[in-house]
Amino acid sequence: MSQSLMATYKRLDVTFSKGEGTWLWDKAGKRYLDAISGIAVCSLGHAHPAVTSALCEQASTLVHTSNIYGIENQQQLGDALTALATMERVFFSNSGAEANEAAIKLARLHGHRNNIKDPAIIVMENSFHGRTLATLTATGNRKVQAGFEPLVQGFIRVPYGDIEAIGSLAGKSQNIAAVLVEPVQGEGGVNIPSAGYLSAIRKLCDDNNWLMMLDEIQTGMGRTGAWFAWQHEDAKPDVMTIAKALGNGVPIGACLARGEAADLFAPGSHGSTFGGNPLVCAAALAVIDTMKKEHIPARAESLGDYLANGFAAQLDAIEAVVEIRHAGCLLGIQLDRPCSELVGMALEQGLLINVTADSVIRLLPPLNMSNEEADILIEGLSKLIKESVKS
Ligand SMILES: *Cc1c(COP(=O)(O)O)cnc(C)c1O
Repeated sequence: MSQSLMATYKRLDVTFSKGEGTWLWDKAGKRYLDAISGIAVCSLGHAHPAVTSALCEQASTLVHTSNIYGIENQQQLGDALTALATMERVFFSNSGAEANEAAIKLARLHGHRNNIKDPAIIVMENSFHGRTLATLTATGNRKVQAGFEPLVQGFIRVPYGDIEAIGSLAGKSQNIAAVLVEPVQGEGGVNIPSAGYLSAIRKLCDDNNWLMMLDEIQTGMGRTGAWFAWQHEDAKPDVMTIAKALGNGVPIGACLARGEAADLFAPGSHGSTFGGNPLVCAAALAVIDTMKKEHIPARAESLGDYLANGFAAQLDAIEAVVEIRHAGCLLGIQLDRPCSELVGMALEQGLLINVTADSVIRLLPPLNMSNEEADILIEGLSKLIKESVKS
């Protein structure tokens, strides 16, 4: 491989040249079942015809103008997203990290409006929020932060899933402006908090005038079996960020807000050159339209159950398999040992999977994958797991 790219990734030795639905092909023509979807991005599968035709049509009409002018399909996308999420307003970015940057800036504005001199945001251990300086500071993983000090001020960290830990700060700390949390931790190991966690956070935020800010960048857009994961327990946030699956592969993120948080930005206080341009908005509108037509959130729920049951049937007797966790089609198979070598073994067998937090196999398949494709994944991966833990 050429040395011209900065060494930010330890890349696998494969290059894809074509995709269709759940499948990718490398240059030699070998076919791979994609159970990771570009890390929760291509939730409708590769080269979905509705997204492709929206992109082609828009590219041949108008790709970019500027946010200093009106953008018709950005307005339409804003209307569609705020209606879906029952939020009030949206800011469009180009990535998840930038959507979180907007949320973090809203928290600071909220704090200052309430006369807090140094507003702080409560964040979680094992969280992941991105790679910009503020979002890597919010991230609860030393590997992401190391070497980039000085980090950004104004974050307080507590254990994930521990409502007491957040509650105990309420009396102690006077400068808290917001809580930023993932409904399910993806990168952190597919960690699913117990039922009631988000609604308890909602109540603490109400009682203390904190903004409840949910990072739904990985969990949003149907992944967990609802459009947004907070809908499972009706714990509506004040601020929500989404990105990954929103454009099915074109770079777009969004920060949605309601109530007071929806009016904090004023002209000049935030912006983005590319954010929400006509090309990406055309893709996102096609994604939403297709997800509605194909009943994607419901499909994600049934497919996720199908996969989890299938893996349980194959792996329940295997001692090294500690737990199989899933929220819709965000699945984690927790082993009792580091298992990153499985990624390469699976690749050889034509299966694309991911390992996170050292010992968790993470699966993020396309939400419209067929049961037959799910069977191929269950059989193939279970066989590999059994082989690898035997030795
Ligand atoms: C991927 C991810 C991000 C970062 O998104 P980028 O588009 O890579 O900046 C932030 N938060 C969560 C929960 C994510 O999964």
